[in-house]
Amino acid sequence: MIDPTLYDLNELDYSKLIIGQTIRAMQIFRCWWCGHQTNKYTISDRGKWGMTVPPHARASPCPYQNAHWHWLLYRKYELLSHRAHPKTYKEELKAEIQVLRSKYREKIQHDVLDVPLLPEKPFTFDDSEEDI
Ligand SMILES: [Zn+2]
Repeated sequence: MIDPTLYDLNELDYSKLIIGQTIRAMQIFRCWWCGHQTNKYTISDRGKWGMTVPPHARASPCPYQNAHWHWLLYRKYELLSHRAHPKTYKEELKAEIQVLRSKYREKIQHDVLDVPLLPEKPFTFDDSEEDI
């Protein structure tokens, strides 16, 4: 059964949620690389590297994460984050990212349901929270 509640991630009461439960939230998560948007989250307590973490809402993974073009975008963003690259190379990378993103923009189907008011800024977790 689909839970019709639209949750506010800033005020989640985890005592009323179960691990593995899928919820829809008011906040939209946007993929860092392709811009795919979703407000579908899973309640998770799975830690990384053997650490246990308290329950938290984890955004659904980007449905395009296994596509080759998505990997290319990820790779170019990664290269862009290296400080040592010359400015001209970084400009080339930015241009290539723009081309890739505009080429695949129309393929991306967002998964945002039941959002009465779109937030001004998409909600994102820290990079450390998400698998790449
Ligand atoms: Zn993506």
